[in-house]
Amino acid sequence: MKDPLLSAPTLWELLKQRATLTPKAPMLIDGSRHQRLSFAQAVDIAERLAAGFHDRGIGPGTLVTWQLPTGLPAVMTALALARLSAVQNPVISLYGERELRAVMERSRSTFLIVPGAAERDFPAMAAHLQESLSHRPEVIVMAGDLPQGKPSTLPPAPGEGQSVRWVYYTSGTTSEPKGACHSDQTLMIGGYNLARAMRVDSTDVGTVAFPYAHIGGAMYTAMLLASGMSAVLLDRFKVAEAAAIFRQFGVTTTGGSTAHYEAFLAEQRRQPGEPLIPSLRLLCGGGAPKPPELYYQVTTELGCALTHNYGMTEVPLICAGSPGHGDEQLACSEGLPVEDVELRIVRRDGSLADVGESGEVRVRGRGVFKGYTDKALDAEAFDADGFFCTGDLGLLRADGRVTLTGRLKDVIIRKGENISARELEDLLYSHPKVGAVAVIGLPDTERGERVCAVVEAAEGQPPLEFEEMVTYFRASGVMVQKIPEQLELVERLPRNETLNKVLKHVLRERFAS
Ligand code: AMP
Repeated sequence: MKDPLLSAPTLWELLKQRATLTPKAPMLIDGSRHQRLSFAQAVDIAERLAAGFHDRGIGPGTLVTWQLPTGLPAVMTALALARLSAVQNPVISLYGERELRAVMERSRSTFLIVPGAAERDFPAMAAHLQESLSHRPEVIVMAGDLPQGKPSTLPPAPGEGQSVRWVYYTSGTTSEPKGACHSDQTLMIGGYNLARAMRVDSTDVGTVAFPYAHIGGAMYTAMLLASGMSAVLLDRFKVAEAAAIFRQFGVTTTGGSTAHYEAFLAEQRRQPGEPLIPSLRLLCGGGAPKPPELYYQVTTELGCALTHNYGMTEVPLICAGSPGHGDEQLACSEGLPVEDVELRIVRRDGSLADVGESGEVRVRGRGVFKGYTDKALDAEAFDADGFFCTGDLGLLRADGRVTLTGRLKDVIIRKGENISARELEDLLYSHPKVGAVAVIGLPDTERGERVCAVVEAAEGQPPLEFEEMVTYFRASGVMVQKIPEQLELVERLPRNETLNKVLKHVLRERFAS
């Protein structure tokens, strides 16, 4: 039988409980430097780091932005700030000065923590920002040994986990960045639910090969602490290199998002018949659409399970699949709504949609964020019943699972007919010449909007021809009005830095004329 998951009121308390239960068990493995840290060592280091931060002036409620790549310093910083009850604002390390400035202008953090030695000169960027921001944040550079202090000087550990202690700025794939406020609890609920859905236990070895400053980083940390499993940390994801490291550490579960599955699949195809990561039992991720075809390719060729989840900066986990669920369920849905997240599908007129009918996904409950930093945004983000309006379109299946069908803003309205971009993307993805695809609506005087497919070629394949695409859609039986009237071939679809999500607004701007 599996050990039950631990639970605690705060993230720090969860770490302490875990370190008492399995002190010597590995928690984190730095995949590039081969450094390992046990749960007990994590408490010790985070406590001394917290004392070092406290000596610099960080305490309960202090606003701290940190921009650190995935690695031990990032996880230790997050835990140390959680120990101090500071309000932390993680920012992914790929952000340049422009993006960081946009966040800092909004967050008005009093501290900015950046790495020392790195591929980019973070300290110089931080110094430049410090000069030019009106509130002049203090900069802490994590160079060489981490700052340290005496744990005996620390203020009391946080007693409750309901207050706002985390602010994540959404990646802004569609609009201006918004600061989503979280408590320890809202993140930890995501972590418990993820652990339950993935069916992990202390024997599992996972990975954080995505930017740790993404909301998934803190959620994953809570999962490690609740389950006692360990994770290999990688500060960059190059698939061949990652696979070699994962083989070495006996990784049992990895993933991130659709781009990660595609990368592992392509790598596996370079060595057919020989498992890429023999210890791997589960690929798991979320955050972007996953075509059903990809599910079958991954499970067949990589020989592991694939569970794909639905989450967002505001609600780290909304729906999740589990190993052992049916193939069709895992291929064609985002899984079951998780505990502490009540979900409903709402029509445009505000009434509840029937089973199988697409509408806006709205969620409420303890697993939902605490609102935006800009309170004016909350008024339109939450409905009269207190449900958060995700802006995603989806349907509830008869088996209780949710299938996302697109984004409210993504619906293409062609001659008054609503067309789901997602349906067309899933279909076209199964064409052998298509490596990746985004379907968008473009302004059109005659039709209102016309349908445009933007395609990245599959590796080693000639470009898809327009006529070929039309024939393919016709053969699929899809309504003629939905067939894209424009095809654009691109070398690389524009994607965001966190989970490699396609930036459709960039495509719309580019092809509108
Ligand atoms: P972000 O807050 O930047 O992580 O983006 C969250 C958005 O990603 C959601 O609102 C969805 O539009 C999208 N997303 C997340 N999970 C999935 C999924 N399983 N399938 C399709 N889109 C997803």
